Amino acid sequence: MKTVREKLDALSKAAWLSETLADEVVRCQACAHRCHIQPGRRGICQMRYNREGQLYAPWGYVAAANVDPIEKKPFMHFLPGSAALTFGMLGCNFHCDFCQNWVSSQTLRDPAADGSINYIQPISPQELIDYGVRHGAQVVASSYNEPLITTEWAVEIFKAAKEKGLRCVYVSNGYATPEALQALAPYLDGYKIDLKCWSDTRYRELGGSLQVVLDTIRRAHDLGMWVEVVTLVIPGFNDSNEDLWESARYLASVSVDIPWHVTAFHPMYKRLDGQRTETTTLQRAAEIGQEAGLRYVYAGNLPGRVGSLEDTHCPACGRLLVQRAGFSVLANHISAQGTCPDCGQEIAGVWS
Ligand code: SF4
Repeated sequence: MKTVREKLDALSKAAWLSETLADEVVRCQACAHRCHIQPGRRGICQMRYNREGQLYAPWGYVAAANVDPIEKKPFMHFLPGSAALTFGMLGCNFHCDFCQNWVSSQTLRDPAADGSINYIQPISPQELIDYGVRHGAQVVASSYNEPLITTEWAVEIFKAAKEKGLRCVYVSNGYATPEALQALAPYLDGYKIDLKCWSDTRYRELGGSLQVVLDTIRRAHDLGMWVEVVTLVIPGFNDSNEDLWESARYLASVSVDIPWHVTAFHPMYKRLDGQRTETTTLQRAAEIGQEAGLRYVYAGNLPGRVGSLEDTHCPACGRLLVQRAGFSVLANHISAQGTCPDCGQEIAGVWS
């Protein structure tokens, strides 16, 4: 009987986001941990490993594939109402104790998650994209677990997606290297990044660092990717006015057109006794974002309870442009040129 590790390693391929050092040691370039990995050892994510001086990365499978509304990723300014073929693999470079997808993200890092090996379906990029096209997808999204750790596989899928005219997006924690972003730049049209808090100490508890994520937000934007940022607002963790102000000010310094999603937490994984986020907290966070100058702030995970904070309004004349209920688009008045039909204001985003 094969172990979980052996089953995963049977679905892997030589990785090119890698540097070979002396004595068959490799340095992984897929995420900012930049693991130095000895022969026979694995990186922090447990998914990339060194076999006889060669780095190997996951390849040739999905652990989940669904066609979802793009609003669920969430993207609000990226082809509203479109269907996104969303695929995920296993593993993560972080270990957030509030992870909403921990069963697939913590494989090999938490024994309770190892049952996720049964989710694996071997598949080729062409088969996956054909499945998406048959189900009307206009976008392909790498999501559910951390896509950066499987960037080589994502690029292969994105190549097949581009041939069919699909757009490509990442749903990621943003713990990227410049090398990974450069490799993704020719394919990636959109990048959803989590900004989990404004405290490097807390980021380190989750397994990352604040500055790397801030740099990724700026780099992805400068590379021309359409960037949206999500902060899951967790009571007692990141919901202070100071945290929210600093986050909002930083985003506004990159671009006031970056949509900021402040979303509600519900108890999950190892934070089962945590408090749910109140509507008033999301409204306070959204007001801070707006006062910091961000033009588009959305409140998520509490559909129907946050008033107009699910909708898009023209930042110039205030007209309602996109009306939403949860992940559904009820009306979209943005012109094909991406402008407000009333005042002609250009609305930042990907509209056609
Ligand atoms: S993806 Fe990140 S965590 Fe995984 S091996 Fe590479 S550098 Fe390490």
